[in-house]
Amino acid sequence: MKAEYHVQLCAQALDGFFSPAALAAIQAANTGQDAIFSGFFGHPEFHFDESKFARGWAYVAEQRARVRHTLQNGAPVEEAWAAFGRLLHAVQDFYAHSNYTKLWAEHYGEGDLPPAEQFDGLNEHLLNHPDLRSGHVYYPLEILTFFERTRDWATARLPLDSHAQMNLDYPERGPLFEYAMVGAAQRSAQELELALEGLDEAARQKFSGKTA
Ligand SMILES: [Zn+2]
Repeated sequence: MKAEYHVQLCAQALDGFFSPAALAAIQAANTGQDAIFSGFFGHPEFHFDESKFARGWAYVAEQRARVRHTLQNGAPVEEAWAAFGRLLHAVQDFYAHSNYTKLWAEHYGEGDLPPAEQFDGLNEHLLNHPDLRSGHVYYPLEILTFFERTRDWATARLPLDSHAQMNLDYPERGPLFEYAMVGAAQRSAQELELALEGLDEAARQKFSGKTA
């Protein structure tokens, strides 16, 4: 997803749990995952690319464990915010880079889609669907799709299973973008619950960045 949508999803889905400073740190770590040289190349698990779903979910679990460990062990809370931002980037990209929304939409006729608010981004059947796929990043052509001037030219030359052809990274990618945003928000909210599960009040408060 484009950075502005990651930023928007964090603000919307985390619903006031975090202080403005904590939220800003989470958003910065989230969008930092798309930095071309440190995050993009060679890290399909950061963005749920290449149909490497097991690797993606393992990465999410690892970052979640890091959040919890940091909160329970007196480590600087900034580490927990950074890990949580990285985790949110991955789960938000899941809906933009996989065909999850398409598999969901296939249950309905063309033009018969329920409104996006009714989208179910947490459907276990679809999360484990045998036809679940995400885009393959075809280098070097795919790089040209990152730039406005060459995007359309390069996209037209890439196969249907490419990241360029499959992504729902911004609204112009089509009507399913809105559904990807709803799914990403649902999963982000769920991730906050999972990160906090069983933590005591002090750890929760530390994570929120809000003082008593
Ligand atoms: Zn990404």
